[in-house]
Amino acid sequence: MKFFYFLIIILWGGGLTIVYHQGHKSVEKQLISSLKDNEREMGQMLDVAIAYNESIKEQLILNFDLNIGSTPHPLISSFKNFPAINTYGLQGDETFAGKPLKANLTGAGSLADVDAEKWSEINAVLSLNLSAPLAAKSQQFLWSYYTSQNGFILLSPSVPVEQFHFAEYIYSKPFWKIATPEQNPNQETVVSDLYDDAAGAGLMISISTPVNYHDTFKGAVSLDIGLAYLNNVLHADLPMLENNISLLSDKGKVIANKAIKDLDDVDLQLDEQLIHYKLMPFSGGYYILSSLIKGKFYVAYQLSERQLQSIVVENIYGRLLIVSMFVIILWLLVKLFDMLCNTKKLAAMDGLSKLYNRMSLERLSNEAIDIAMRNDQPISVIMIDIDFFKQLNDEHGHYAGDQGIINVASVIKRNVRKVDIVGRYGGEEFVITVPDTHLETASILAERIRTEIEQSKFYGDAKVTVSIGVAESQAFALYSFQDLCKKADLALYQAKENGRNKCVVYTYDMETYNQRVS
Ligand code: GH3
Ligand code: MG
Ligand code: MG
Repeated sequence: MKFFYFLIIILWGGGLTIVYHQGHKSVEKQLISSLKDNEREMGQMLDVAIAYNESIKEQLILNFDLNIGSTPHPLISSFKNFPAINTYGLQGDETFAGKPLKANLTGAGSLADVDAEKWSEINAVLSLNLSAPLAAKSQQFLWSYYTSQNGFILLSPSVPVEQFHFAEYIYSKPFWKIATPEQNPNQETVVSDLYDDAAGAGLMISISTPVNYHDTFKGAVSLDIGLAYLNNVLHADLPMLENNISLLSDKGKVIANKAIKDLDDVDLQLDEQLIHYKLMPFSGGYYILSSLIKGKFYVAYQLSERQLQSIVVENIYGRLLIVSMFVIILWLLVKLFDMLCNTKKLAAMDGLSKLYNRMSLERLSNEAIDIAMRNDQPISVIMIDIDFFKQLNDEHGHYAGDQGIINVASVIKRNVRKVDIVGRYGGEEFVITVPDTHLETASILAERIRTEIEQSKFYGDAKVTVSIGVAESQAFALYSFQDLCKKADLALYQAKENGRNKCVVYTYDMETYNQRVS
C-alpha cells in the first residue's frame, strides 16, 4: 500500500512539473507573440519617420538644384535681426501666401554677415514643407527641422525666437552629432539615444538624415519622437509587465520604457543581443529580444525570475487545481481500499491471540481440505486445549489467563509453516490445519508444541500445559473440517483422560470408548 501512496506522490510531482513546464512554454509563447506585435507596430511607426526624413532630404536636394541663381523666396524680405540674442531670422508669426508660417528660421549673428551662398541655402530650405506630418499627427512627432552646417536652423512647428533660436550649442546636441560625417561616415539615416529636448519638449529621440550636396555635408534633416509617444506604441499584453517592455537601440541601450522618468532611469543595457524570440537568463531574471527593427532597434521584454514564476502560476492555476484534485481523489480511493483491506483482515482475526477466528479458520481449512482432496494429498488437524485453565483464571485472575492464551498462540505460531492455518477454536482451544502432512508428522509437530508450551513461562513464572488431539484425512477417510475436528476432539478427550499434558493421535477404538463413556 505504501508503494501506491509513493506512486501517487510521484504522479503528483510529475503532473505538477509537466503542467508547470507547459505553462512556462505557453507564457513564453504569449510573450513572444506580444513582442512581435510591438516589433511590427514600432517598425511601422519608424518606417513613416524614416521615409518622411528621407523625402524631406530629397526635396531639399531638389531645391538646391532649382534655387541656384533663381529668384529669392518671398519670405526673405521678412527676415529681421534680433540683436539682443545675436540672432537673425523669422519670428514665426509671419504669414506666407496669406497663411501663418508653421516653421521659423533662425541663424547665429546678423543679416549683414549672410553671404550669397548662405542665402542660396536659406532660399532652398525655406521652400521645404515641414509641417504636413506634424499637422497630421502632432502627438507622434514633436519637431521636424533642418540644421545647417552654415549656422542656422529651420524648425517646425514655429516657436518664438526668444524661446528657441540657433546658437553654437546646437552642434553639441545628439541629433546633430549622429548626422555628422565624423560619427556617421556612411551618411545614413540614424537614430539618437534618449536625450532631453533643447526646446523643452522633454525626453525624446531624434531621427537624423544627413544631407550631402555635391559630396559636401550641408546639414541634417531631423525628426523628434517623444518618449511618451514611444511608450504609447510599446504595449505589454499583461498589465503587470507594462514596465518590462523596452525599446532598445542596436547597441542594446534602452530608448523607451514606461518606467523612465528622467535620463538617470536609463540603466538597462543588454550586452549580448544574439538570441531572439527565446527566454534568455539575464542578471537574476530573463529577457526576450525581438529581431532588429529597421536595422536600428530591438524590442525586449525583461522580467525577474519572480515575475515569470507568478505569470506562469497564474497561467496554470486551473490546471494545477485539476491535477491536485485528481491526485486527492486518487489518494482517497487508495485510502478507502486500504481501509477496506484492513477491516477485512481485522474481521478475520481473533483480537486476543492474533490468530484466525473460528469463522476464518473454518473457511480457510475447508478450502485447504478441498485442495488436498483434489491433489490426493493428506491433511491433518491438531486440536489443542489448555489444561486446568479455569484454575489459572481463578488463581491469578483473567489477565493472567489472557497472557496464557497469548503465550500458547505465540508458541504455536513459532512452530508452524506459512501454509499451516492456525485459529482460535474456542475459549482456550486452538486448531492447526496442517496441509500435505500425514498423521505421524502432524503428531511430531503437536508433540513439539506441547513440550515447548510446557516449558515456556508467562506472567512472571506462570506456566501451563496443553492436551492435544491429532487426526488426519486420508488415514480415516475424513473429508470435512467438521469431521476432522470431531476426531481430533475425541483424541484430545483421550489425552485429558490419560492425565493431561499429553499428545494423542485419533484411533478407531476411541469411538467405542467414547460410546462406552457416554
Ligand atoms: P481442562 O483441563 O479440562 O480443559 O480444564 P479447564 O479449566 O481448562 O476447562 P474449562 O472448560 O472448565 O475451563 C475453560 C476456562 O477458560 C473457562 C473460561 O473462563 C476460560 N476462558 C475462556 N476464554 C477465555 C479468555 O479469553 N480469557 C480468559 N482469561 N479465560 C478464558
Ligand atoms: Mg476447553
Ligand atoms: Mg481446558
